[in-house]
Amino acid sequence: MSGELRPVSGILPFSLAAQKANHIIIVPLENAQEASFNKASNILAAKNILQICSHLHGRELLTNYHAEFTKLKYPVLPDLSEVFGQAHAKRALEICAAGKHSLLMIGPPGIGKTMLASRLISLLPLLSDEKALELAAIHSIRGHSLKLSTWKFPPFRRPHHTASSIALVGGGNPPQPGEISLAHHGVLFLDELPEFDRRALEALREPLESGNVTISRAAKQIEFPANFQLVAAMNPCPCGHLGSQINPCICTTQQIQRYRKKLSAPFLDRIDICIEVNPLPKNYLLQKNKEESSENVRNRVKKAQIKQLKRFGRLNHNLSGELLEISSNLLNKDQKILQNFLEKFQLSVRAYHQILRIARTIADLSESEKIKNSHLMEALSYRFFKN
Ligand SMILES: [Zn+2]
Repeated sequence: MSGELRPVSGILPFSLAAQKANHIIIVPLENAQEASFNKASNILAAKNILQICSHLHGRELLTNYHAEFTKLKYPVLPDLSEVFGQAHAKRALEICAAGKHSLLMIGPPGIGKTMLASRLISLLPLLSDEKALELAAIHSIRGHSLKLSTWKFPPFRRPHHTASSIALVGGGNPPQPGEISLAHHGVLFLDELPEFDRRALEALREPLESGNVTISRAAKQIEFPANFQLVAAMNPCPCGHLGSQINPCICTTQQIQRYRKKLSAPFLDRIDICIEVNPLPKNYLLQKNKEESSENVRNRVKKAQIKQLKRFGRLNHNLSGELLEISSNLLNKDQKILQNFLEKFQLSVRAYHQILRIARTIADLSESEKIKNSHLMEALSYRFFKN
C-alpha cells in the first residue's frame, strides 16, 4: 500500500528488449544493478510509484543508473595442478577446452574423474560481454542473483543423476530454462552418466548439435539458448572394478551389458572424446612430480581458440563437413590410415568428421596449420569404448 517498488526476477531480458526497441526502462531500485549488466540500455531506477509520477510530470527527474564494473581478475578456481598424475586425462581436458569438444571419462570410483571435470572451467577463457549477457539473461529468468565480480566466468553445472528431464532441458508452465541453458557457454557435468533417466539423456541430443532447445507447450513454443559443453563420467561396470588388478569385478557379463546399454548408440555418437581413467602407478606420489597449472594450459587453449576463430569464426566442434575438408588437408597416407580405421570399425560419416575435428584441434594446439600423422593418431586414440 505504500507504493514501494519491489524487485522482480527476469529483469535483464526486459532491459535487453527495451534497449532493442529503443525505450527507456524504469526498474525497481533493487533490480537496477542487474538491469545494467546490459551496458547499452537506458535505465532509470525508482524506489516507489510517487517517484515515477514526479518523473513523468517533469517535477523531479530520475537520473540514469550506471553500475560500477570493476576490473575482473581471474578467480581462484580449483586448479589442474592439484590433480596428481593422470596426464592422459589432463591432455584430453586441454583438447576439449580448446575445441569445445564433449568428453566422457570411464574409470573406477574415487579415481578423480570429478576432480578432473570440475577443473575444465579453469582452462577456459573468460566470456565476452555478449556471451556473458546471454548467460546472465538466462539466470535472471530463474531469479538467480548475479555478481558484478563473477558474471563473465563460464558456468559449471552439475545436476544430480536423479534430475528429471524438465530439470535438465527445461520446461514447466510457464517454461523455465533447464540445466543445459544454465550451463550456456560453460560446462554441464553429468557424473554417473548411465544412472540418468534415459529419456533425459536422449533429450540432450538435439541441443548438443544445435546449441539451443525448443520447449513446446500446448499453445506456444519457446526457445532457450543451450550452447553447453558436455562432460560426463561413469564407472566401467556396475561394481566399478572391471579391469582392476586389486579389486576383482563381481559383475556378470549380462549386468555389464545392461549397464552400458543404458547409453544409446546415437547418444554415445555425440560424445567426441572417450577416455579411460586408470589408477595412478604405484609410488607415483613418492616421486613428487611437478604438475602443470591451469593458467599454463589456459594460455595454450586461448592461443588455439584465437587460431580457430580467425580461420572460420567458430571453434572446431562446430565445423561443418565442408569446412573440415578445406582445413584438414591430410597427406595421402594419413587419409588411407583413416579410411582403414573407419572400415575396420564400420564407422559412420559422423565419426569421420568427429575424428577430423579433434585432429584439427590437436594441430591447433601444436600451432600447426597441417594435420600431421601424430595429430591424427592421437585423435584416433580418444575412442575408448566407442568402436
Ligand atoms: Zn563390476
